[in-house]
Amino acid sequence: MIPISEAISIVLEHSPRLKVESVVLSDALGRVLAEDIIADTDLPPFDRAQMDGYAVRAADVSQTPARLRIVGESAAGAGWHHEMKAGEAVRIMTGAPVPLGADAVQQVELTREVDGNAIVEILTPVEVGRSIVNRAAEIKAGETVLRAGEDINAAMIATLASFGYSEVKVGRRPRVAVMATGSELVNVDEKPGADQIRDSNNYTIAAYATLAGATVERLPLAGDDTEELKRQIRAAADQSDVLITSGGVSMGVYDFTKAALKELGAEIFFERVALRPGKPTVFARLGNTLVFGLPGNPVSVAVTFNLFARTALRVMQGAQQPQLAEETAVLARDLKGSMDRESYLPAILRTDGKGTLLAEPLKWGGSSDFVAFARATALINVPAGMKTVEKGQHVKVTRLSG
Ligand code: AMP
Ligand code: MG
Repeated sequence: MIPISEAISIVLEHSPRLKVESVVLSDALGRVLAEDIIADTDLPPFDRAQMDGYAVRAADVSQTPARLRIVGESAAGAGWHHEMKAGEAVRIMTGAPVPLGADAVQQVELTREVDGNAIVEILTPVEVGRSIVNRAAEIKAGETVLRAGEDINAAMIATLASFGYSEVKVGRRPRVAVMATGSELVNVDEKPGADQIRDSNNYTIAAYATLAGATVERLPLAGDDTEELKRQIRAAADQSDVLITSGGVSMGVYDFTKAALKELGAEIFFERVALRPGKPTVFARLGNTLVFGLPGNPVSVAVTFNLFARTALRVMQGAQQPQLAEETAVLARDLKGSMDRESYLPAILRTDGKGTLLAEPLKWGGSSDFVAFARATALINVPAGMKTVEKGQHVKVTRLSG
């Protein structure tokens, strides 16, 4: 049995970086950037008006009301490209270039046009620089604005678009095959007979793997039979970067997943982790395919996927931060740890009225209780050797995505 930190190090060490590919900008959301993004223009590219109003010289309007002659109009996309002189004003719109000679924009609400629109009366003084964003005040051409290894989220799309990245280099999506094992399993569209249950793990793993950026193929359900498992594992390994199985890795008489892997000649990197839930997690490689043999219990699947398989999938795409981020929260209810294993226990995160992040452990019946787990938004990490953690203590939490 190895500690979780060691297991994660082994996953990091053995997960290969996949090739880089180009995608069109509209397909870039959720991918991992494989190139630095460089500004090809200043931002703003010209001194830009931030308000509708009048471009003026501040000195002209220090005494108000001040009357200025309207000499032109600067609209977004159609600027007024002359020099504005003392005593003059230019009608200007948000996003339009500020004319040479002007040093402030007074918003339209504080002005009044008179004399058949030839004259504007500025009703309130305005200081130099007001409502103008100077050229390159936000970004200078040549600056790196996003870095390789970052996850492309919706907030970044404007940056990619504005600097002309109609195509973006990203890490290739890993191809994941999922295979649930267990002679008790039937497909979701079947009515379970006596002694049977519906498979849920394939769908859970597919969901998390999709969130992690992978493409997923679901393999047929496999019974507890070493030869059948070997056949399916071999076929899956031929077509996928990562095979994720569930079930059949504990110490039961019919737990054949590990045996099948070993008989196929897979290199086993670890097979027991000091983790609760999820001790019998297997990590192996068969040819060039990484194999995660996750335990069968649905909550163990969710925990072990997010700690180990997700990490591998993100390394493969080139993610700078492949692991789920850790935060600190205050425990909202007493919690039991384990003496010999580190725990990752399902919880709901919320803030109290004062802005403190609280972690409320789920009331659950253990690693088979997927209905309770459906409410979880995070996992609470309890170090090994802590029998109880009391309400009010600080705990490490990781948010579950999706
Ligand atoms: P195992 O690790 O194979 O001993 O399975 C542990 C528990 O998880 C057993 O109660 C199994 O019936 C259950 N289980 C295994 N595979 C799945 C699955 N694909 N979907 C739902 N439950 C499963
Ligand atoms: Mg089983």
